[in-house]
Amino acid sequence: MANIKVTTWRPDTCDCEIEYEWDADLDGSVRTHVLKQINKVCEAHKTLSIGEQWNAAMDENTRKNKVLGRVIENFPELTETEIKEDGSEIKQLKRGTQYNWSFDKDRNLEVEITGMTPTQKVALKTVTDSEFGVGKVKIK
Ligand SMILES: [Zn+2]
Repeated sequence: MANIKVTTWRPDTCDCEIEYEWDADLDGSVRTHVLKQINKVCEAHKTLSIGEQWNAAMDENTRKNKVLGRVIENFPELTETEIKEDGSEIKQLKRGTQYNWSFDKDRNLEVEITGMTPTQKVALKTVTDSEFGVGKVKIK
């Protein structure tokens, strides 16, 4: 028996509104999100087919989140560890360090990490070019 739930997703990376289904009986490691319908299509994605809209919204949102993850993994000098009330530790950008991002007209992600040195930017570009394809992430 499947336990199908529907989630309405409004990504912070575009103005699409998407409904997808997932099976709450499945473990998170094997669970998949299946497109149900797109309620609203943003300007950036309106010329795409429905399947492409879903893929683009997912890809852009994932890329934006992963880049922050790569910064935190690769640049300890830009991060700090916060200990939560329950004792768990969370590694995050240092207080005062901002992750600013936007998309250009070709939906390449443009990111700025405040306080990053030119050398760190080159190192981050190497990481993102290799993971996402050359130019898919621009470091400002
Ligand atoms: Zn969109």
